[in-house]
Amino acid sequence: MHKRIWNSLQVEFTIVPKSPLLVKSGLVSPNPSLPDMQFVRTVTANGETVFIPGSSLKGVFRSFTERVLRTLDGWQGACDPFGDNSCGRKLANDEDTAKIYRNSCKACKIYGNTRFRGRIAFTDAFPNGEVKTETRYGVAISRLTNAVAHGPFEMEIVVSGSFSGSLAIQNFEVWQLGLIALTIKAINDGLVKIGFGKNRGFGEVEFKVNQAVLDLAKVKSKVPENELWGVGAFMASLDETKQEVNAYGLNPEDKLSGLPIVKFENSGIFERRVYSDNEWAAIADRAIESLPRMLEVKS
Ligand SMILES: [Zn+2]
Repeated sequence: MHKRIWNSLQVEFTIVPKSPLLVKSGLVSPNPSLPDMQFVRTVTANGETVFIPGSSLKGVFRSFTERVLRTLDGWQGACDPFGDNSCGRKLANDEDTAKIYRNSCKACKIYGNTRFRGRIAFTDAFPNGEVKTETRYGVAISRLTNAVAHGPFEMEIVVSGSFSGSLAIQNFEVWQLGLIALTIKAINDGLVKIGFGKNRGFGEVEFKVNQAVLDLAKVKSKVPENELWGVGAFMASLDETKQEVNAYGLNPEDKLSGLPIVKFENSGIFERRVYSDNEWAAIADRAIESLPRMLEVKS
């Protein structure tokens, strides 16, 4: 399946905090003027800056996706990556890549496991201009004694500004796009929060999609302008890959229709379409609507 790129989507986004935001650094700075719990920082060409690591965003997306899939389909939907039933353990002795993909849970199919790399990647999200931080004080209350168990400690939080980054997914199935769109919606609905202090009301953000760039492989039977094909539909459309559709547990009808029509650029082996924020919103709605139908297909 990965011998060639069938489809690829890059979503460019801006994250705007709606409540205090703290993505904690694992390291403690020796600088005594910085708070106990610091926002994660990095050094760029323009000096030191707070930022949101791509790995943190990926964790937020994966854990929501796992919750959704387990609600629908128990451990079949999403294994416990660190538990005895993890796909990585279950498939430790398999060598057949098609079988490993087919028998992995749906969460691993997107985010990967110890047997194969996930197909989604997040860049770090960096500030657009000035980001304002403040220090807040917190205590941890013991549930047993209701007394202060820890603290007071200082927390460095972002109170205004915004961060931009992108996510990219390659060789995806339509239901995978649906789950990504659903996660973005859940973030915007306040159901999914980012970073530390979720039960203090921290981490509520707006996740704005600025544009989405879709690359589709050029195949004999051209993908209609108002359709998007998942990897299953691409592989089913060619004689040389048709037999692999079942081996990988893919859906030959892996298609999303009713998409807004945009003009496309020819970029060699790909047809490239660039969707605006509003056009992306329409695609996201279609992809979310298709989830019950697409997830029904046994893979
Ligand atoms: Zn798994």
